[in-house]
Amino acid sequence: MDAKSILKALHPWRDSHKRTAWLPKVKSGPGPAAGSRFGGLPWLPSGESHPACENCDRPLRLLLQLDLQSLPEPARQHLGRGLLQVFYCEREDCEQECDGWSPFSEAHRVQVVDAADGALAAPAGNPFPPKEISGWKQADDYPSTAEHDELGLDFEYDFDANTVRVRCPEVGLDSPPVGIHDLEAETVANASMGDKLLGWPHWIQGVEYPECPKCKARMEYVFQIDSEDNLPLMWGDMGTAHVTRCPTHREVLALGWACG
Ligand SMILES: [Zn+2]
Ligand SMILES: [Zn+2]
Repeated sequence: MDAKSILKALHPWRDSHKRTAWLPKVKSGPGPAAGSRFGGLPWLPSGESHPACENCDRPLRLLLQLDLQSLPEPARQHLGRGLLQVFYCEREDCEQECDGWSPFSEAHRVQVVDAADGALAAPAGNPFPPKEISGWKQADDYPSTAEHDELGLDFEYDFDANTVRVRCPEVGLDSPPVGIHDLEAETVANASMGDKLLGWPHWIQGVEYPECPKCKARMEYVFQIDSEDNLPLMWGDMGTAHVTRCPTHREVLALGWACG
């Protein structure tokens, strides 16, 4: 059994874990006040002031606003209604003092607000240049290599012999050793990088779904915000950030990031 036939044997596993990711199509400019965009100013419900960093009190910067009702149908069914807003304070002091990478850091805010009664926020702070999300492109996405093990796909490396064996009970595979470079985990399945809605998170360090503080359940991945994609922003050294949500407590939202 060579690498090619192992890959073939893993096709059913790959197919069973395939998800749809939605890649944003953008235009420069803010678009509608209560629409989907990267950067710019947020929609604020009447009577609410611009969210501030809990550490430095300066206005948080809007990273992302998603009009959940305008999302492609499968995503809309999954995420419900309202405007999902993600704010962050990337000042170095705040990032360090509040562990800005951690899912429930005080240096960010993730919330869903009602778009029924409100308006575009008055200029505050130093917003990122706005980019309207004018549509979505559908793409197949696969589990990050960090998640293979949990999903029943095991790579057993022998670094002295430079070989790897692959086991996947789901498809009845227990392979003989093949050359390490002939069969890489990334080739079997990996999550795409870049900004995207749903699909699979691309983990940089390991599987880092946060735990809901209320029920301890694993939170669900919602959106990936990558370094230097649609926002001129770096998560540490070219890291990746993930918005997550508790499957039961829909108001519990988090933003965590990691870099290599
Ligand atoms: Zn701050
Ligand atoms: Zn919960």
